[in-house]
Amino acid sequence: MPLELAREAEQRTSTGYVDRAIQCRLSDHEGDDHYGLLTELDTYGTALWLRWHGTETALLALPDCPMTGPGPDGEGCCLFADHPEAHTWQHAPEVTSYAS
Ligand SMILES: [Zn+2]
Ligand SMILES: [Zn+2]
Repeated sequence: MPLELAREAEQRTSTGYVDRAIQCRLSDHEGDDHYGLLTELDTYGTALWLRWHGTETALLALPDCPMTGPGPDGEGCCLFADHPEAHTWQHAPEVTSYAS
């Protein structure tokens, strides 16, 4: 990520540290907008994301996605509210279903 953006992101976190090895967290997608999680913010349920499209980048403070998977122990989604593509729990590496 660009150095200026990394600095700006670090100023917005309490730890003063963000991981600069950013990976897109969306499931396989067609669009060119990618979203990488930088860090959780102090505001509960909010995280700082880096959106990039080619060389264009932007820092976004976004609320967490409120959706959880089915069932009483539904897994939370690791993305932000209104994200494109599937929730992270819809793309678990392995889907196990029990006949119940
Ligand atoms: Zn992507
Ligand atoms: Zn989600």
